[in-house]
Amino acid sequence: MSYEVIARKWRPGSFSELVGQEHISQTLLNALKSQRLPHALLFTGPRGTGKTSSARILAKALRCQVGEDFVPCGKCDECQDIGRGSSVNVIEIDGASNNGVEAIRELRDTVAYRPSSGHHKIYIIDEVHMLSTSAFNALLKTLEEPPEHVIFIMATTEVHKIPNTILSRCQRFDFRRIPLTQVTGRLSEICKADDVTAAEDALWMIARQGEGSLRDAQSLLDQVITFSNKEITLDKVIEVLGLTDRRLLVETIEALVERSTDRVVDIVVRVFKAGYDPRVFSQDLLEQLKNLLMVKVSGKRYNEVVDLPQVEIDQLKKIADTLTAEDIHLLFDMALKGAEDLPRAQDPRIVLEMMLLRMSAAPRIQNLLNLKAGVAVAPTTQAPSHAAPNQSAPPQNVAPQQSAPANAAPQAATMAPGSDSEKWLSLVQRIKKVNGVMGAQLNNTFLKSLDGKTLTIGIPKANQFLVDRLQDNEFQKKLRNYLRTYWGQDFQIQVETGDSQSAATPVKLKEQKQQERQAEVRKQVEDHPLVRSASEVFKTKITAIKETK
Ligand SMILES: [Zn+2]
Repeated sequence: MSYEVIARKWRPGSFSELVGQEHISQTLLNALKSQRLPHALLFTGPRGTGKTSSARILAKALRCQVGEDFVPCGKCDECQDIGRGSSVNVIEIDGASNNGVEAIRELRDTVAYRPSSGHHKIYIIDEVHMLSTSAFNALLKTLEEPPEHVIFIMATTEVHKIPNTILSRCQRFDFRRIPLTQVTGRLSEICKADDVTAAEDALWMIARQGEGSLRDAQSLLDQVITFSNKEITLDKVIEVLGLTDRRLLVETIEALVERSTDRVVDIVVRVFKAGYDPRVFSQDLLEQLKNLLMVKVSGKRYNEVVDLPQVEIDQLKKIADTLTAEDIHLLFDMALKGAEDLPRAQDPRIVLEMMLLRMSAAPRIQNLLNLKAGVAVAPTTQAPSHAAPNQSAPPQNVAPQQSAPANAAPQAATMAPGSDSEKWLSLVQRIKKVNGVMGAQLNNTFLKSLDGKTLTIGIPKANQFLVDRLQDNEFQKKLRNYLRTYWGQDFQIQVETGDSQSAATPVKLKEQKQQERQAEVRKQVEDHPLVRSASEVFKTKITAIKETK
């Protein structure tokens, strides 16, 4: 017995065997069962996705007298004839052949005759977009008033070439590219039935080459089986089909994440040795980084979101767990830049090598976040250079207080160290915590002098409106209480207006401190090795440092 090619041997015989087009199978079966099948159907979609097979299944379902519930028996004369394309009541016309016009003319002449047996006469017009204008016109006449017993099934890969007059008279069915996992599953069934051992990643590779066409994938499987003696491995597939080794892609990403320049250089050598076109490689790498991101952001559903063999998904998941989504975005952007440069490159090898080395030096967002967190706390853990270190004093909180807690914990009654301005700032901040209004008013005053038991508060000329308030008895009584609590001393309070060169109000002092701190943070950030390498990689300068709480 001669070898029967897989595509023919495994041609689906019923709607349930049709791979990857469940939405169409279901609609057609429903239409058959409710006797609402339209007279003209248009099957559109990429090649090898089951359009012609579906047309034959539909023809058999309509004409087979043996099968029940529109499942063709596949064995009766009718089923056999339709399968061979030799049924007198199921007429197949190839729109691409030279006699297309002739065939349509004949169709028009014979369409009125009833079928020799049964109820339906079916015309299957393949590649219908190839018909000439005159053939379309002839067809249109028939479609306008189709005889009751006739069903037209038209199939095309290029629906945009079909005249609107025809389209408007058809019910359209869109066949989709078959997901690679489904093609792989089908190939696996075929191998099992034929006693062929096959690795999943090997079959997936074949499916991928078929680009969503089951027919193409099946014919590639034929080819691989012929050369592999009933045992299909990924190596064999790569060898027989002359493909590039996708395992290099995951390895590349691993090397980038490990920052292993040795591995990166080695990978470039292997890419060129394997004859992997660097442009194709960079495109494949982009696709794989996209898959990595999908796996990263899809949470528990990571298994469902990418069309890859399970072994590859598991590898990606492992890598994704060590990165943030931002890290992957960054790698993707860098790879994209490289992929854009490659076609123009004099020496693609150098561009690819540099791209990968740059990517392996890319900073990790997680590290940058840690770095930033470290910098943000630095000023409070390190005593400012102009203040004398004093272990007993509570750390100065230079961040502006937005809200005052109702019950501030009592603090030690000690005067803050430093200049008069700093002492005043510290006191005002403490008061602000328990008396927001008074704190806000004192914020715009300064400590003019502290002479024994007399405390003189200065009010800048711009804030003269505060004079009355500060001379108010009730106000002064409260302030004296705070001074007793926080500085442990009784004071006479005096108020004077006038500006001062030496003393600063808390508002001014905080402004100054903030500027100093900004400068300090900036220096620390700029000096950090990670940031330095980042700005070398991106050729950027730091324009702003934003602290996050
Ligand atoms: Zn049958």
